[in-house]
Amino acid sequence: MADLRELYQSVILDHSRSPRHFGPLADASAEASGHNPVCGDAVTVWVRLEGDRIADVRFATPPGVGCAISRASASLMAVAVHGTTRGDALALIDRFHGLVTGAPGDTAGLGSLVALGGVARFPVRVKCATLAWHALRSALAAADAATPVVVA
Ligand code: ZN
Repeated sequence: MADLRELYQSVILDHSRSPRHFGPLADASAEASGHNPVCGDAVTVWVRLEGDRIADVRFATPPGVGCAISRASASLMAVAVHGTTRGDALALIDRFHGLVTGAPGDTAGLGSLVALGGVARFPVRVKCATLAWHALRSALAAADAATPVVVA
């Protein structure tokens, strides 16, 4: 499976060097920041909701801060949840957490996120991989608090 490992490595390098959806979001519904003291990673995640849909999502790290794993994970996350519903994003957060903590589970539908599955073998890196996802969950919760959900 060496080829697959190389492919995963190249996905991580690509997203850490050229992060997608990088930079502040001016008209965000909510934002949340996270910090991983073990590695020194820091990330802020912005979301803009339109109804139940994540119309836009962006993230940023302070200049020179954050390891390749944390940056790639945030970038892959933003790509994965952009345009999805809040419910789908929350479900994906749980599935991604399972992936990087080695919980047995179906990886179908995780797409490029499976590139980070190898993190499960390195417990110290799990926080790097999940940092942006925790921030996303906090941002979605903050958006919920700001905009009461109307239940029909
Ligand atoms: Zn890190």
